[in-house]
Order: sequence, then structure tokens, then C-alpha cells
Amino acid sequence: MAYFQSKPIAGRHFLQIPGPSNVPDRVLRAMDNPTMDHRGPDFGLFGKQLLEKVKPVFGTKGPVIIYPASGTGAWEAALVNTLSPGDTVLMCETGQFASLWQEMAQRLGLKPVFIETDWRRGADVESIGERLRADKGHSIKAVAVVHNETSTGATSRIDEVRAAMDAASHPALLLVDTISSLGSVEYKHDEWRVDVTVSGSQKGLMLPPGLSFNAVSDKALKASETAKLPRSFWDWKPMLASNATGYFPYTPATNMLYALDTALDMLHEEGLENVFARHERHGEATRRAVRAWGLEIQCEDPRHYSPVLTAVRLPEGHSANALRAAILERFNMSLGNGLGRLNDRVFRIGHLGDIGDLQVLGTLTGVEMGLRVAGVPHKSGGVQAAMDYLAGNA
Ligand SMILES: *Cc1c(COP(=O)(O)O)cnc(C)c1O
Repeated sequence: MAYFQSKPIAGRHFLQIPGPSNVPDRVLRAMDNPTMDHRGPDFGLFGKQLLEKVKPVFGTKGPVIIYPASGTGAWEAALVNTLSPGDTVLMCETGQFASLWQEMAQRLGLKPVFIETDWRRGADVESIGERLRADKGHSIKAVAVVHNETSTGATSRIDEVRAAMDAASHPALLLVDTISSLGSVEYKHDEWRVDVTVSGSQKGLMLPPGLSFNAVSDKALKASETAKLPRSFWDWKPMLASNATGYFPYTPATNMLYALDTALDMLHEEGLENVFARHERHGEATRRAVRAWGLEIQCEDPRHYSPVLTAVRLPEGHSANALRAAILERFNMSLGNGLGRLNDRVFRIGHLGDIGDLQVLGTLTGVEMGLRVAGVPHKSGGVQAAMDYLAGNA
């Protein structure tokens, strides 16, 4: 049973939205431990090992700052610690989340330059390169890209964004939102020379909502010394000073840190390479099902297919929200809604986090039955296509 449910319904709820993802029982049990003294001697030891353990998921040897906040807070932290009022930020409109980050930059007094796309692919690396080459006076202070655009199911190539910046010999900082990709998709903060990696707890990291992250490069730290945007709660400086001994400047979300500690153990036990391969495989199985149904995948560029979620377009004249409502009502499964301009046009299947073959197949079964119940024109055989793929590819 769900914790709060207006109508009793037997069986486990399928939470297949692209975040929050399902929290493993082992993580829930870790949270169910007594809160400890966050100024006591054991906390420093716990904090120190945790702040080390989190680094490999980002692919960094540098500091990772942890906030008691949702991902939106870590977006703000990335901007206010590195930039000054009126600074130009080059951003790429991959979808709803990129748009929200851009609006935040505007509200903070920055000058975002927004490269538009059709919401059907990842960041336009060519345009980024062009804008940077044209910016001879280096007025662009940062390039900000969403790694996995959760509204469309498109994963941008951060290695290529870095290559475009290098090719233009442009000194801008590189800020990347990995809120829905970290812990699910390969990511290399150090190797790609990302300056701030923004992330959140409730998607690939398999935790409840409530923590968010900034992984910070030396160059970003240097920028923070002269950055003039006002900041207090988000300020890296007191965080890093306390973190050096395993502590936090204000009360940390202690039980969420127990959860993080356990989730990181789980990721490291499975092996990050295996975790990434599992997500790739489930993404492919899901796309095979969608194609067999005769429906269209929102992301049009196979190089940008997301291993985290698949957004599916409804045929003209059919409502994605009506389909989702029918699936919730009949089969007790939540799917992601279409965000922003995609509202009612797409639904999103989350295949991220603590998920195995049978959960993926159960999810696809619910979708296939839902298409029938809601009267959405489709061919049967999607689940069969996914079964054939998963059974044939261990
Ligand atoms: C979920 C998400 C956010 C917003 O994070 P919150 O935790 O809801 O504040 C931002 N960017 C991306 C890519 C996301 O998936």
C-alpha cells in the first residue's frame, strides 16, 4: 500500500515517472536510523568518508558540495557562485528543464543567450561552437547545458560541447545539469573539464527528493572568488571550509545522508559501468516496444536517445493525459506527463534507478494495456518486442 492513497488498491504501485524513481528498500532502511549529532565526533568521520565516496559517480577527484535542497537549489548555487550581474550565459533550449534554468538565470540578473531547438534532440553543439567563435571579446562567461533533458528524453553529448569550446579557444565556464542522469548515464566531470556539475538525489541516485549537488572544478572555485551575485545559503566557501573536516556549516539532512551513503554503496557494488549498461539496455527495450506499437519517440536523433526515460508522442487527436489517467486508475502505475509545450502531447516512461528487466516489462505491459483501454490506435506486440530483446541480450 502507498503511504497515502485515496482509493485502496492491492499490489505495489509502479512509480515509472522519470524521477523521483523507486527507492530501494535497503536505502529506506538506512534512513530509518536515529538521527545523530551533526556536531559530534562520529559525524565528522561519517561525513568525510561520504564526501569521498560520492566523487566517483561524478567522475571527479575534486570537491562535491551537498545541499539540503531539490535540484533547483543546486541550479541556483551553480550560477550565483560563479557569475556576476549582467554576465552573459550561453544556454541551449533542449526542453522544459533547460527553459526553467534559463528563466532562473534571467531572474538572477544574468543575460542568457538561448539557442532554440525543436525539443526533439540534445544540445546543438554546432551552434554553441559558432556563438563562441563569434564572441571575440569573451563576453560569454559560461555555457550551461542540461545533460539529460527529462522533458523530452534527449541526452546531450557533453564531450562534444567541451570539444566545441576547446575548438573555439573560449575561456567560458562549463555548467552542466545532471539532475536526471547522474548514476544512470556515464559522466566524466574531470575528463570533460566541466566546471560545475549540478545534480539531485531523486532520479538516478535512487534517493528520495531532498538533496542536491555541485561538483566544482578549480577554475570554478577561482571564479567564485570574484563572482558578484549575492549568495548566502548557497555560498560554497563556508561549505568547503566545514566539509574539510566532514562537517556542514548548517544542519545537514542527516538521514538523507545515510540514504546517500547506502545508495552509493549499491552503485559501487553493482559497478558503475554495469549500471550504465543496464540503463542503455532498458532504454533500447523500451524504444523497441514503442516502435512495435507504431508510436513515435519524441527524441528524433538516435545519438541522443536517453537511457533514463523515453517520451512517447500520441497520435494527433489523442490525449496523453487521458491515457496516463486510465493507466493510473486501472493498473496503479504513474507515468510522466508532458511538460510545458508537450503537455498532453507526450507521456514519459521512466526506466531509471533501481530497476530490473521485469519492472521494465511490467511497465511496458501497463502501457500496452492502457493504450487499449484508452482507445489509442496502436499495434500490439510492443511488450513482445521488448521481451525478445531482453531475453536475447543478457
Ligand atoms: C528534475 C529535474 C530538475 C529539477 O529538479 P528538482 O529536484 O525538481 O528541483 C532540473 N533539471 C532536470 C534535468 C531534471 O530532471
